[in-house]
Amino acid sequence: MRWPATLTAALLTATLLTVQPATAQAAEEPTITLNSGERALIRFQLTDEAAFERLLRSGADIVARPRTTPGAVLADLVVDDRELAELRKTATPVQLIQKEGATRQSRATARIAAADTLSFLQAYWWTSNGRTFLQTQVATTASDDPDVEITVTWTTADGQTGSYPLVRFEDADEYQYHYALPQPLPAKPVKVTATSSLGGQSRAVTPSAWPGTTPPANPAGYQKDFIDAYMTPTDITARIKRLSRQYPKLVDVINLPNKTQGYRRTAVAYLGDPATAAIVVESVKFGDQGYNGVQVRTVDPGRRNSPMRAEYRDRVLTVRLATGASGEVISTTDQVAAFIAAKYPQRFSAFVEDGSAGLIMPVAGPARLDDGLAGTEVSHKPQTVQALRIGKVRDGSKPGVLAYSQEHAREWATPLVTLEFAERLLANYATDPATRSLVDSTDVFIIPTVNPDGANYSFNDFNFQRKNLVNHCTGAQRDPRYRNSWGVDVNRNYAVGSYFDGYVGASANCLSGTYAGTSELSEAESRNVIALASTHSNIKFSMNVHSYGGYFMWSPGAYKVPGRITLPRPSIDESKFFLDSARRIVGAIATERGTVTWPAYTGPVADVLYSAAGNSADHLYYDLGITAWNFEVGNDRWNEATQQWEGVGFQPPFDEAHSEAQEYAGGLIELVRIARDQSEVR
Ligand SMILES: [Zn+2]
Repeated sequence: MRWPATLTAALLTATLLTVQPATAQAAEEPTITLNSGERALIRFQLTDEAAFERLLRSGADIVARPRTTPGAVLADLVVDDRELAELRKTATPVQLIQKEGATRQSRATARIAAADTLSFLQAYWWTSNGRTFLQTQVATTASDDPDVEITVTWTTADGQTGSYPLVRFEDADEYQYHYALPQPLPAKPVKVTATSSLGGQSRAVTPSAWPGTTPPANPAGYQKDFIDAYMTPTDITARIKRLSRQYPKLVDVINLPNKTQGYRRTAVAYLGDPATAAIVVESVKFGDQGYNGVQVRTVDPGRRNSPMRAEYRDRVLTVRLATGASGEVISTTDQVAAFIAAKYPQRFSAFVEDGSAGLIMPVAGPARLDDGLAGTEVSHKPQTVQALRIGKVRDGSKPGVLAYSQEHAREWATPLVTLEFAERLLANYATDPATRSLVDSTDVFIIPTVNPDGANYSFNDFNFQRKNLVNHCTGAQRDPRYRNSWGVDVNRNYAVGSYFDGYVGASANCLSGTYAGTSELSEAESRNVIALASTHSNIKFSMNVHSYGGYFMWSPGAYKVPGRITLPRPSIDESKFFLDSARRIVGAIATERGTVTWPAYTGPVADVLYSAAGNSADHLYYDLGITAWNFEVGNDRWNEATQQWEGVGFQPPFDEAHSEAQEYAGGLIELVRIARDQSEVR
């Protein structure tokens, strides 16, 4: 199993322990099938919130946590055919978002007689491409009653009215609020009220305009659209070089101190037949360091009572198997694996394939060791991760803004966002006084790809690669059939609120999509981000750019269970600054093509998405005092025909990625304006 066994166990447990509501499972299931070994990004409807919590704790590759179907607990997961089959037992696949390779609780209820008290936590309306939406969140004092039903009624200025139900939202077994998806309305709402099945009634509230801000218009001749295609790490390096040559007075290139492992892996071969009896032989050095193509074989010495021997000559490792009194081979798989590892500790390691322990080692090979990497145009050398530094005055005296992207390899749109942002600042400097004012008064740091090794793997080998390429697995988990599951989740490897501190949302399993690494900051990629931010103490603002889902988030990004104890909340003043700034940035994003990040998706990570132990923004905020945000670019799109919100995925058709780059680059420009404005009021 590629997946942690606890995952499927957790899901099965979820079904056994809970009585499923009839409604959720009754929905017809679209035909979503995968071929053997194929992987896809699929939106699942889970039985209940508890199933989601178990998924999260088991280290599943949860990509997003959409709330696009009223009353449903949804999760977007990358799964293969076997995992899909397992998940089907407890969850319903509802949308096939993207295929690999395509670039595209029921409880007994004690009724409470007294009416509850209701309060609106959010009531926002907005228009997007001519369509008006309303989104509300309401809290009830009957927080322990899972069956309380809350209905919101809206009224427009011309007297039209309508209503819709809210659904209860629990997180880590704690009641949060009732909510609904953004609702299409015929016109701007002027009043909303909420009523509950217990007889409670809220005050009437006038919904606020969301985000209610508009950035200054760009002047005629403002230049944008510098992105023509998805970009590999090689393309990004070339772009950085070109920008530094073209704008030498405004740009420094910073080589970050920790080289990555490189697009490389050890070389491995199965010796024998994995279906019957085999061992895995692995090079100690990387395949490109002389071990790709090395061959290994076992031979029958053809003599009686012969001890095991091995020789390594002319890039061929030959193991002469031990024989017994009548000349029969007596060496077992375990003995051969141990013998190879003991005799050539500088060259080879070896272990027994699952199911082969204790069996007689077959005569096999020669088998060719190979790292299995498909990218022929990619350097295998350790990579120097680079940052662009943009500003007229780059001496640390101006307020610094850090934007960094592609911690997660498969999020191909994210470097497009940061590079479009960089080039807008540079290209418009000479002609647009507003841009010149920004670049003159701030110090902007940009890391377009934090995780180039993973990105190379995503482009060349496995497009759903999330993590870096460092394999910390030991023993049988190094079997090459797990190779698409190796690596460390860079955005779970930081040192605040981490897995190692006991926070939820990262895993100790080296095959998990949220593997936290061997220790805090065990990885070059995460150390580079911290090195840049801590070396340049003028950096006061940061944006961690991810995809997808259309979220805009800040700290706290993690909690402990039980009790859902989050990292400390920002102060009231800081929270207001986070939200006010978010409204400005969401407003700027919306100017491009009308995309409005939902108010329900705007807030602390732990509240609007999930607990993400050891993420970078928490480290920057709590340890370095940086006002740190996170984007998830790629908002769900409203389908007018089906009246549904639809996810876009990691590698949508380029036109969509291009649009995401344009709109979120505008958001980053607004962040620089905020940095400039803040430094002026200080
Ligand atoms: Zn991500």
